[in-house]
Amino acid sequence: MIYRDVRVPAENLIGNPGDGFVLAQKRLGPGRIHHAMRWIGQSQRALDMICERALSRYAHGSLLAEKQMVQDFIAETRIDIASARLLCLHAAWHMDKHGSSASRTEIAMIKVYGTKMLYNAIDRSIQVHGALGYSADMPLEEMYRNARASRLVDGADEVHKVSIARRTLKEYAAVDGFPTEHIPTRRAAALERFGDLLDIEVLNS
Ligand SMILES: Cc1cc2nc3c(=O)[nH]c(=O)nc-3n(C[C@H](O)[C@H](O)[C@H](O)COP(=O)(O)OP(=O)(O)OC[C@H]3O[C@@H](n4cnc5c(N)ncnc54)[C@H](O)[C@@H]3O)c2cc1C
Repeated sequence: MIYRDVRVPAENLIGNPGDGFVLAQKRLGPGRIHHAMRWIGQSQRALDMICERALSRYAHGSLLAEKQMVQDFIAETRIDIASARLLCLHAAWHMDKHGSSASRTEIAMIKVYGTKMLYNAIDRSIQVHGALGYSADMPLEEMYRNARASRLVDGADEVHKVSIARRTLKEYAAVDGFPTEHIPTRRAAALERFGDLLDIEVLNS
């Protein structure tokens, strides 16, 4: 989209002249968390459909609700939704407290987790509905296409994972020699520090 010779009255300016791109970027964080909230709602809708179908469809000697693999779908979906809801609330709390720029990791985490949760919830719902779920008589096939796009929109999941990993790695540093958790090294350090106490304990026993 190209704007040429556009004139904006000074009182209508949002921010300062030249800051448009920065402002556009800033809206992306709040936009992503808004996507995540809708994904949670969509996943709940997919779970509602799973449960309704499971309690209504009798196949191969029992209701689907009585089959352990279908129960697994229900449990996994419910766990995923609860996890995503808490991640989303945490990201929202972080944004309120520290602003969206300082919350890029939290926003990226719910973006990546939310898309996976949504995709899996709809996929399981289609599976439990059998051929009906795959048809356009149910909303699931359209939800599935949108869920697939969510892994690309507002930045591909992989790009968000790269940024999560980069910022996480900044919290750590390389170490010389053995890893910090190397057991023989830690044992030697503990003996050096507390060995005299060990001698006393042995003498007393
Ligand atoms: C339905 C839909 C709606 C959209 N709406 C908007 C919109 O409103 N506004 C807007 O600006 N854009 C929008 N987009 C564009 C979307 O943000 C891009 O499609 C997305 O960022 C991926 O960019 P790309 O398509 O150029 O793929 P590419 O950049 O070519 O990436 C393709 C694939 O390569 C891999 N990849 C790319 N970079 C990396 C990396 N750094 N590390 C590891 N793997 C990587 C990923 O697997 C990625 O999926 C929309 C896209 C879709 C499908």
